[in-house]
Amino acid sequence: MSDMATIRELLEQGRSRLVGLDSAQLDAEVLLCHVLQSDRGLLYARPEKRIGTAQQSSYARLISARCTGTPVAYLTGKKEFWSIELRVDEHTLVPRPETECLVEAALEHIPQGQALCIADLGTGSGAIAIALAIERPACRLLASDISAEALAVASYNARSQAIDQIRFVKSNWFSHIDERFEIIVSNPPYVADSDPHLGGTGVRHEPASALRGGHDGLDAIRCIIEGAGGHLTKGGWLFLEHGFDQAKAVSDLFRAKHYINVATRKDYAGLDRVTYGQYTG
Ligand code: GLN
Repeated sequence: MSDMATIRELLEQGRSRLVGLDSAQLDAEVLLCHVLQSDRGLLYARPEKRIGTAQQSSYARLISARCTGTPVAYLTGKKEFWSIELRVDEHTLVPRPETECLVEAALEHIPQGQALCIADLGTGSGAIAIALAIERPACRLLASDISAEALAVASYNARSQAIDQIRFVKSNWFSHIDERFEIIVSNPPYVADSDPHLGGTGVRHEPASALRGGHDGLDAIRCIIEGAGGHLTKGGWLFLEHGFDQAKAVSDLFRAKHYINVATRKDYAGLDRVTYGQYTG
């Protein structure tokens, strides 16, 4: 890159290097803003602004990493979910917009002002637990993960939102959880081992333990549905995110364990994404 290139030139260089990605323009903008520590308004307001060589090199390094498939969120260290800015790193899945449907479905079953106990299993960055804690401040939450590194990120995120009603526990699903909850939510790993998506650049840098769900993708979901009976109050609800083609299998698993009012909710793309049911005790 030449000395003192302009914002316009840097964006053009970035976009052309990222040309294979649908989000090339956006990614170049987000990465340049990250380096400049500015918001995107600057890029449009001052396209002829000249940028020094140190910042150009940082930007070039980020563009190179993005070319190899590293998610933008890992490069900037943050991702927005439910209008909350969360820290993320390679120990946590990057929160996806479709997971907001899981939050919405759960919120519909948590009346405002009621002090319910809620568990978020496999919390990762803490996205779901923190969104629920913000929306329902009267509730107490337990957020678990098998990864100590992910729990450190999640508890940092809770602190930075001044949330103190979430307890973080290292647990392999229910292995280190004793109590019962009115609501259990989880976005577990659910991608089948044979799914070509796992080899794609989109998810290659994310933790396999947050994505891979065994031969049919349902290993973790089966484990959670099996275990939840011992951890839900009578009439409590279990909400699970799953793959677009898993709604029937997940609903069947719920019904086999005597859950009632089993229903599936679609995500913003119109795909089956969340199935939930009520435990009859
Ligand atoms: N929705 C994610 C993906 O397709 C998978 C998330 C998960 O397994 N929980 O990459």
